Amino acid sequence: MAGDKETGLSAVMARRLESGFKGRIIAPGDLVYDATRRVWNGMVDKHPALIARCVCVEDVMRAVGCAREHGLLLSVRGGGHNVAGNAVCDGGLMIDLSAMNGIEVNVDGRTARAGGGSTWRDFDAATAAHGLATTGGIIPATGIGGLTLGGGLGWLMRKHGLSCDNLLSAEIVTADDARLTASPTERPDLFWGLRGGGGNFGVVTQLRYRLHPVRYVLGGMVIHPFAEASSILRFWRDFTTSAPDELTTMAVLLTAPDGQKALAIVVCYCGDSREGERVLAPLRAFSTPLADQISVMPYVEQQGLLEAGFPPGRMNYWKSNFLAGLSDDAIATVIASFAEVPSATSAIAFEQLGGAMSRVDVDDTAFAQRHAPFNFLAVSSWDGKEPSEANIAWTRTLWQVMQPYSAGGVYVNYLNAPEDEGAERIRSAYGAVKYEQLLALKRKYDPTNLFRMNQNIRP
Ligand SMILES: Cc1cc2nc3c(=O)[nH]c(=O)nc-3n(C[C@H](O)[C@H](O)[C@H](O)COP(=O)(O)OP(=O)(O)OC[C@H]3O[C@@H](n4cnc5c(N)ncnc54)[C@H](O)[C@@H]3O)c2cc1C
Repeated sequence: MAGDKETGLSAVMARRLESGFKGRIIAPGDLVYDATRRVWNGMVDKHPALIARCVCVEDVMRAVGCAREHGLLLSVRGGGHNVAGNAVCDGGLMIDLSAMNGIEVNVDGRTARAGGGSTWRDFDAATAAHGLATTGGIIPATGIGGLTLGGGLGWLMRKHGLSCDNLLSAEIVTADDARLTASPTERPDLFWGLRGGGGNFGVVTQLRYRLHPVRYVLGGMVIHPFAEASSILRFWRDFTTSAPDELTTMAVLLTAPDGQKALAIVVCYCGDSREGERVLAPLRAFSTPLADQISVMPYVEQQGLLEAGFPPGRMNYWKSNFLAGLSDDAIATVIASFAEVPSATSAIAFEQLGGAMSRVDVDDTAFAQRHAPFNFLAVSSWDGKEPSEANIAWTRTLWQVMQPYSAGGVYVNYLNAPEDEGAERIRSAYGAVKYEQLLALKRKYDPTNLFRMNQNIRP
């Protein structure tokens, strides 16, 4: 019965959408339906009634109008990389932006315009051809849309700010299917909200970024035995306090391909490589690593360094928090937890923050969490054949025991599904003050909450 109703709904919607639609309407049963509804996190298995693969702004406007008029649940897929799975919905309309991935680089002006469905792979390839880059996600398959709208952490953030700090303007289709520009001079309130407020305000069809000269970096990682993780992590923590902005690092507890647990310190120095060698010397000389894979490499190679560890389709459950610091107790806590990790593909990461991203005035953007020195992220990942319960329980327990060290907030882009995290966690991602400001903006641009498949600011 429900199936009949859904089929009927799909047919009505498909007819309404198809007239003048330049992209492709994909319905259940279509050959590409399953591949298109799938997102990066294998735990997400939702079935939209219809998928609108848009190729232009007019397609997006038509799809938004159709969802509004039929009272449909609407989701927006950028790169489909969000662990929460908000890009796809059950029974509603999914707007697929993956075909809107054109990039236009203005070499002289050092800017780039990118379609809202571009990935960082698309973006980095286009800008690297000119020796230019902006802060972007560290896994190329991630969408620029979701990542930038939530903030955007990356290897260049301590030198050049977050992805959203490099956003110059955005084109957006709002709930009334209006096509608007948001920039410092046009609708500055909306522009403020788009830099940290997630996908709450509409479908962003184009993003324009500031670029920086970045051709080569001194990047890679040093890998240490797990038995030395405590002393290395303590050294790394102290080392980061005097690191220059050019250097961004991350400490990751992981299981190496040979089955041995290890600690990797992943680095990216985006300035003069000789100076980088000098800066990194103490980190490389501290204790004898199992491997030192730090070398000068093209920036795009650094961007692809960790991708093999994050294949699509695995079960993923993440839990995260910004940290007020990294005490010896906190280090001991994570090491004890990692000793018990149930899956060889799970990891615990500490991201070094600070630098340029922390010097942007906190009122300038909706992104709230500028002053924590580290972010803590439990990346729980396992094969679909393994039981999920043990992996989820391990992650939750670890997150719970790390709460005393939390700075109180969480990165909105690392949140799990809203029903798992709950309203308070979502609020803590935006911060209490900014949540109220975002709420006012939501009432202005999306009063009926058409865009609610996200870390929702509920009007
Ligand atoms: C393996 C992995 C690595 C990651 N690495 C990083 C990292 O280095 N730095 C970092 O900051 N984050 C990182 N993230 C988190 C990432 O920022 C989020 O998952 C982000 O949501 C991904 O963007 P997407 O476009 O792929 O998301 P999707 O899953 O497509 O969408 C996620 C949300 O964003 C909204 N959205 C996406 N595009 C648009 C658009 N054009 N207009 C309006 N709304 C849109 C969607 O509606 C949805 O609510 C990583 C995630 C994963 C899984």
